[in-house]
Amino acid sequence: MKIYDWQISLWEQLLSEPEKLPHALLLGGPEGVGKLAFARALAARLLCENVPGEPSSLACGSCSSCTWLLSGNHPDFRLIQPEDGADAPAGEEGAETPPANASGPKPGQGSIRIDQIRALEDFVFVGSHRHGKRVALIAPAEQINPAGANALLKILEEPPSSVYFILVSSQQRRLLPTILSRCRNIVFGRPEPNQAERWLSAQGVGTGAELLQLTGGAPLVAADWAEQNRLASYRVVIEALAENPRDPVAMAVKWLGLLKSEQGFALPQLVEAVQKWVFDLSMLKIAGRCRYHGAWQNSLERLADKASTTGLMACYNDLQRIRAVARHPLNTQLFLEDMAARYLRALEVGRS
Ligand SMILES: [Zn+2]
Repeated sequence: MKIYDWQISLWEQLLSEPEKLPHALLLGGPEGVGKLAFARALAARLLCENVPGEPSSLACGSCSSCTWLLSGNHPDFRLIQPEDGADAPAGEEGAETPPANASGPKPGQGSIRIDQIRALEDFVFVGSHRHGKRVALIAPAEQINPAGANALLKILEEPPSSVYFILVSSQQRRLLPTILSRCRNIVFGRPEPNQAERWLSAQGVGTGAELLQLTGGAPLVAADWAEQNRLASYRVVIEALAENPRDPVAMAVKWLGLLKSEQGFALPQLVEAVQKWVFDLSMLKIAGRCRYHGAWQNSLERLADKASTTGLMACYNDLQRIRAVARHPLNTQLFLEDMAARYLRALEVGRS
């Protein structure tokens, strides 16, 4: 139960006085920075029966509590996650999305249902098996359905003092304000790029800098991309956008080939890539810099010259809308041609 290098100071701060740790914590912040790993380490630390040395040490890893936890059988620990179609996706919590996009459940991730929360009631209100602390870890907390959220609220209103709740969320805005108000919010930021790059390099990822940019500085998402060799597919998407794009049908054919290849690049990811590209074009117009595609800066500048800010913004919003149906398009090729046409239109607004 390790934490990442970039979390050490946050850990030490939080555990400096373990006895004062609040009983409901919300670990919030962007995806792919290691919140879930931190939450698991914290649960292990709270339950550990032989904490070594300093109060801010990690769990010992070898006592009976730690052993149970590692084997997934700790009687005083509950992990609540979405059950329908939803293990925590690779890279901790899934792909980074552009900042303007934070609404609606992610397709493919189920919800945490009320019966899962109700099952917690017994755990919380019947005593501990080890006569000590109990920990309930809920992730991602924004996936709790409304009935479940209300049930959780009732538990949080009067929890026994030996029970800790650790909620993990990348989309805190979707949590009930009444739940938020009962949790101490622990804010996770993105690590410094150098630190993240060093970590990726230690994992054997050679393209860390580029991947970090593309994933908005989220090292775990970057590592996941590297593992899936997604950079090569991503470049195919971007090349169609960057190299004198003119013909929506040709662009669509190129993308369709990518989707049909065995690289595991899916349509929603493709739409997201195009969206990030358009986001960068807008950023370049407005702020003179880009966020995701530093490696393509020259192409971006050439295209941004032709485009208008309003056209790009409209295109970005269009993409946001069509992304919602990207999982089940009626006709993939037409969908791609339509997306390409919208993009080309955004570029052409500046020409007229
Ligand atoms: Zn231990």
